[in-house]
Amino acid sequence: MEKTFHMTSQQFRDAGKQLIDWLADYYEQVERYPVLAQVSPGDIRASLPGEPPQSGTDFLHIIDSLNSKIMPGITHWQSPSFFAYFPANATEPSVLGDLLSSGLGVQGMLWATSPACTELEMSVMDWLVRMLGLPETFLSSGKGGGVIQDSASSSSLCAILAARERATGFRSNEDGCREELVAYTSTQAHSSIEKDVKVAGIGRRNLRLIDVDADFAMRPELFEKAIEDDKRAGKWPFFVCATVGTTSSLAFDPLEAIGQICKKHKLWLHVDAAMAGTAALCPEFRHIQKGLELADSYCFDAHKWMFTNFDCSCFFVADRETLTRSLDVLPEYLRNQAAGSDTVFEYRNWHVPLGRRFRALKLWFVIQHYGVKGLQFHVRRHVELAQSFVGWVREDSRFELAAPALLNLICFRLKASDEVNEELLRRLNRSGKLYLSHTRLNGKYTIRFCVAQTRTELRHVQQAWDAFRNEAEILLRSEKV
Ligand code: PLP
Repeated sequence: MEKTFHMTSQQFRDAGKQLIDWLADYYEQVERYPVLAQVSPGDIRASLPGEPPQSGTDFLHIIDSLNSKIMPGITHWQSPSFFAYFPANATEPSVLGDLLSSGLGVQGMLWATSPACTELEMSVMDWLVRMLGLPETFLSSGKGGGVIQDSASSSSLCAILAARERATGFRSNEDGCREELVAYTSTQAHSSIEKDVKVAGIGRRNLRLIDVDADFAMRPELFEKAIEDDKRAGKWPFFVCATVGTTSSLAFDPLEAIGQICKKHKLWLHVDAAMAGTAALCPEFRHIQKGLELADSYCFDAHKWMFTNFDCSCFFVADRETLTRSLDVLPEYLRNQAAGSDTVFEYRNWHVPLGRRFRALKLWFVIQHYGVKGLQFHVRRHVELAQSFVGWVREDSRFELAAPALLNLICFRLKASDEVNEELLRRLNRSGKLYLSHTRLNGKYTIRFCVAQTRTELRHVQQAWDAFRNEAEILLRSEKV
């Protein structure tokens, strides 16, 4: 028989079981690894052969190389002591859904290239509207709808492109953008908005960063003043991104006030709730999205806090026609029986790439496995754990909170210089016991502690607090010496 070099079905079965076992062991033992990879730049590269193998090898050998060469360079995002940035949670059901998506190998660029890929996504996005108490305008049964994008950055880019076309009567798609369009967001918004305005041809010079109040939320009166100043200068205000849960401090922009200003001046309101949006699973936290019914578009990342592995950014629009008209192209080779149908979406017109993975599967697996109640349980637990931590910080006079900690992100610092706080963070991260990141608030170096990792329990938060106190003690003592 001709040697094809393919994995046989039996080899695939065996290797697949070994890999799932490997992952199950990994999740069971993830606490044993230093959370932050303890390698220097270039170490992993240096351990890899420069030349590719000429002959194939068996799967066990591949796993051996994974263990010896790759694992030392992994920072363990799935560790319960991962408190840095915002999380990128991978749970077992989401991993299985993603594996299935890879295995089916569907490229869902058109409804016809796999109807289930489109229709499951439409259904799951409608489920999310119900699960999160989002405005009904985002439902596919009306004029809106949701789509899964790779990232919040892409979601906001699509919002800006649709806003640009709406503002210019779809002329900038034809002639290029000739008007001096101006976009707005707060000084605390994610850097992706700046990148997006560059990509969309708006120009960074035409992005206004509106100042914030003492809680780091956008000041709507300054937003309106900026619009009026720009109009007087002959410019064309067209878009604002408000944030529900900023990256630095989880601040919440006042959507209602911002939305009213948008209606008055005819601006597109995009709401970026990348991490905090998941909190709305619990009715008691939905106040953070009050005013969302005024938004033209909305995004949250299920790949952050909704236990669905990266990438899975959920983007909703109230008027899908504007979005799809902005991004529509239909060459002859993509024409098919469903094009132009009212009952199904052609998702290729909802984002920049043509090709699309079957991402809805993993979200569907997650929602079916946990149910709304299971997801609510974890969100509530994270917030409860974070609030315990807030209490400990408040009780210890050596520390101070640097921002309101209303949900699951705590921004705080030692009452000491920036250098001491930097050293505290460096020591804790180097210890491998936990992983933290930082920001700068009111000009001061600030530690961020985000409780949102799938497997984090009370003992991990307690251990983290003990580590803070011990290192702080050592640092403050050495400062006095
Ligand atoms: N918006 C906010 C508020 C974020 O915190 C982040 C990332 O942390 C982003 C946008 C960008 O997310 P993504 O990596 O999905 O583009």
